[in-house]
Amino acid sequence: MDCDRYELNLKRCNCTYEPCPRKGNCCECIAYHRALGELPACYFTAEEEKTYDRSIEFFIKRRTGR
Ligand code: SF4
Repeated sequence: MDCDRYELNLKRCNCTYEPCPRKGNCCECIAYHRALGELPACYFTAEEEKTYDRSIEFFIKRRTGR
């Protein structure tokens, strides 16, 4: 089933990893990264997102310095 929010999701998506087939399908994006112990791109700033490091450790480190 196609997602009726696909176009809106794409407009809001800050992910720059262009070949990803999950762009605009947020439920698939979250499930994919969660299974890897990661967060999706939208948790990160533009600068952070460009590193493609989606780890929870990186997210915490950037906010706490630890
Ligand atoms: S955050 Fe990950 S799964 Fe989501 S669109 Fe970007 S590369 Fe794809």
